[in-house]
Amino acid sequence: MASRADLHTHSTYSDGNLSPTELIEQAVSRGLDVLALTDHDCTDGIAEALEAAQKHPRLLFIPGVELSTDLPQEEVHVLGYFLEWQNPRFQGRLTHLRRSRMERGQKMLTKLKHLGFDVPWQRVKEIAGDGAVGRPHIALAMLEAGHISSLEEAFNRYLSRNGPAYVAREKITPAEAVQLITDASGLAVLAHPRDLQNMESLLAELKAAGLIGIEVYYQDYDQQAIERLLAIARQHDLLPLGGSDFHGIGGAHERDLGDIPLPFEPVEQLIALARQRQPQQAPP
Ligand code: AMP
Ligand code: ZN
Ligand code: FE
Ligand code: FE
Repeated sequence: MASRADLHTHSTYSDGNLSPTELIEQAVSRGLDVLALTDHDCTDGIAEALEAAQKHPRLLFIPGVELSTDLPQEEVHVLGYFLEWQNPRFQGRLTHLRRSRMERGQKMLTKLKHLGFDVPWQRVKEIAGDGAVGRPHIALAMLEAGHISSLEEAFNRYLSRNGPAYVAREKITPAEAVQLITDASGLAVLAHPRDLQNMESLLAELKAAGLIGIEVYYQDYDQQAIERLLAIARQHDLLPLGGSDFHGIGGAHERDLGDIPLPFEPVEQLIALARQRQPQQAPP
């Protein structure tokens, strides 16, 4: 079932394949009313997306971000919507995290080299382009160099959390991410929470930090997962939101833009919350 909104998408400013302009055009041609751009740890695509969206007054574009955060046992992603992305403290933190991603990428290449795989750093940076360097870019460079025959293989054998070439990112906690987004006048939402451990205690902590929603309708979540997450959202008084996590690169998990059963009411509630918080910056 197609939704009128998609609140989770990536562009070339992180690991997506479409430029922000192409993403907006595709959203319009798929008949979407609301689109959020949520690049990983990067808001540099927002300016281009805003400009592209001006040609399409029917589409509401939401400036967003997806922050990668860490708990001791797992990685947690936090989405931020309607944030004042130019906020200096927020940008300072993002710049620092991106820089540390560069160093971490180089460390992973060193590990790969010890495993016998020569992957040029220059090429990884080229693939990442404007985006923050991440494992997907390294996987692509490995594929190009013929070291592996699929991206899955790169992750399964080398780059996964327990893989021999893995290096952890600089850690920021989910609560810090929620706080950071909230401090930049944004609305924080927990991304793809289906498989998280200790969800109850995590939600209690994040709610205290300002969390306003969780993704319930995500990518290929089935009815059972959706119902479980809906109950959790209700119980914690969080908006049940979601998105396709569109990257425009194909692959087993990729959905088309808006190809998720996200109802429009919670999206309207999100927009209403943004209006309350930021009257001068709110959507019309
Ligand atoms: P990073 O932030 O550099 O640690 O990379 C995390 C990203 O790698 C995720 O957002 C996914 O896009 C991708 N990723 C993680 N695990 C896999 C996997 N098993 N197969 C393909 N992509 C993956
Ligand atoms: Zn991604
Ligand atoms: Fe994510
Ligand atoms: Fe994502």
